[in-house]
Amino acid sequence: MAIATINPFTGQTEQEFEAHTEEEVESRIQAAQDAFVRLRSTTFAQRAEWMRAAADLLEQDAPQLARIITIEMGRPIKGARAEVLKCAKGLRYYADHAEEFLAPEPLADPSSVGASKAGTRYAPIGIVLAVMPWNYPLWQVLRFAGPALMAGNTGLLKHASNVPQAAIYLDTLFERAGFPVGAFHALLIPASRVEKVMRDPRVKAATLTGSEPAGRSLASIAGNEVKHVVLELGGSDPFVVMGSADVERAATVAVAARNQNNGQSCIAAKRFIVHADVYDEFTRLFAEKVAALTVGDPLDEATEVGPIATESGRDELEGQVADAVAKGATVLTGGTVPDRDGWFFEPTVLADVTPAMRLHLEEAFGPVATVYRVESREEALEIANGTTFGLSSAVWTNDADEEEWFVDNLDAGAVFVNGMTASYPELPFGGVKDSGVGRELAAAGIREFCNLKTVWKA
Ligand code: NAP
Repeated sequence: MAIATINPFTGQTEQEFEAHTEEEVESRIQAAQDAFVRLRSTTFAQRAEWMRAAADLLEQDAPQLARIITIEMGRPIKGARAEVLKCAKGLRYYADHAEEFLAPEPLADPSSVGASKAGTRYAPIGIVLAVMPWNYPLWQVLRFAGPALMAGNTGLLKHASNVPQAAIYLDTLFERAGFPVGAFHALLIPASRVEKVMRDPRVKAATLTGSEPAGRSLASIAGNEVKHVVLELGGSDPFVVMGSADVERAATVAVAARNQNNGQSCIAAKRFIVHADVYDEFTRLFAEKVAALTVGDPLDEATEVGPIATESGRDELEGQVADAVAKGATVLTGGTVPDRDGWFFEPTVLADVTPAMRLHLEEAFGPVATVYRVESREEALEIANGTTFGLSSAVWTNDADEEEWFVDNLDAGAVFVNGMTASYPELPFGGVKDSGVGRELAAAGIREFCNLKTVWKA
């Protein structure tokens, strides 16, 4: 895959970039190693000052950065601006909380282990490789980089090949903010060159956000090298609507939960599982609201849904929908590729989905929703849990017992009740099953790439 900005709204290549040579990669790895030696001996206060300066730079650069996001991957400009500001907030959150999250933990009774003093402390580990996707080109990277640098680690970014301008911006962000040169750099390399970086002894761990095949590939190399890895992979999140729910509100939120970021979010609700008591009302409202979405130029402030980021992604979605329709799915709205330039797909709602259809088990990475009718909470749960994914989930109910039951039994990294899944710096984020391993954000996220060191003194 060429390293290039190809505007999904026009299909035109705007700019191509040369991959880094082996010598350039080597010098960046060494710079990250040298920066680690310096960074690990700085104080939390010093790193927090630099981190806040990076947040200031993001805010200052927000208009230009939002435009880069929109042109490279098609996110409507309003959402792109919100992404930049969310990143600034995330960096400040770790500037404020890293020291508390990584505070030493003394054992209350050291004599129980025959010591005068014992406990644990968190130490940084060194260079962490971040392999990142294009769908939130800034947020995915910075939710890793903020905690990693605050812990005293350094980072090397291998960004998706279709967002090179975002990668190039991130390449200098932290040194502009005051961090040692080399503390965070981007490597402009294709996926085929990730293995060599992962096997470099100076690289201690990796985090990958992306597809399941990419995650499996990197994790197997990490396993072979005995290096820690965090994986944030795909999802096909259920959105369960029970009879007691506020159906109007659920339908309104369902539209945003499915179509945010042009439907290309790992934590988008993808499968809508609706109790028979409210099925007709919910599907009517949902399909009406989806049909009313404004689809168009992502640089236009009024646009709610833009194009799919890549031509192959659009073709994949078209194939999944065609397969479902051929096998008997009912199209409630959308369903086709519109007759216009760019890689658009109409926001779509499909009913009567069966296990024979690809969309029943595969992730739909675009604005395509599937709706299921169920007669009981047990049946809802069976469909909700009946995939290989387990990223997040949502349940809509006003019955306290039902709420507890779903929170207990949904096999997912998160359950959102009467709302849609979102990521917050304050809450851990990650999946179970094939959706990944490990957690990002909150205290859990910063501790992932630390050596939890036990200290015992006679
Ligand atoms: P992708 O094709 O897996 O690409 C993600 C990153 O991995 C890119 O930098 C890509 O580089 C690289 N890559 C691809 N194959 C690789 C390999 N064999 N070894 C090492 N690196 C490899 O995924 P995507 O299409 O960009 O992103 C969509 C997927 O990401 C969806 O499944 C989505 O659900 C998931 N996602 C998950 C989360 C989460 O937090 N759980 C968040 C966002 C997205 P190239 O671009 O050079 O190929």
